[in-house]
Amino acid sequence: MKSYRKELWFEVPTRRAFINITPQVEQCLRKSAITEGLVLVNAMHITASVFINDDESGLHHDYDEWLERLAPHEPVSRYRHNVGEDNADAHMKRQIMGREVVVAVTEGRLDFGTWEQIFYGEFDGRRKKRVLVKIIGE
Ligand code: ZN
Repeated sequence: MKSYRKELWFEVPTRRAFINITPQVEQCLRKSAITEGLVLVNAMHITASVFINDDESGLHHDYDEWLERLAPHEPVSRYRHNVGEDNADAHMKRQIMGREVVVAVTEGRLDFGTWEQIFYGEFDGRRKKRVLVKIIGE
């Protein structure tokens, strides 16, 4: 069995953002030379997510509004976690959007369903953060 590991780094200039990282994951897959196996992609921070969905800007706007209704950033004083920090909402947004995704690798390609793309979801940006890509297979 072969394995490949890579950290992708992001520094999002805003507090929140959704970034399509499918091209970076495909580049990792090419470098791994693995043609049959699995790709794991996970956020290495508890205030960011990796998830799979559609690359459609209206949907991303809807996600942002929905997450703000579930866990508003303001007022930061509403959260007990916010003693000396202000990112309790980001922890909750990460929890609902998920930590990681696993994608099958078939014939050297990410074996996606229709419209599926991999996204990095940032909920407490403006600093350097990492995503782990781990690929195993033959
Ligand atoms: Zn925190």
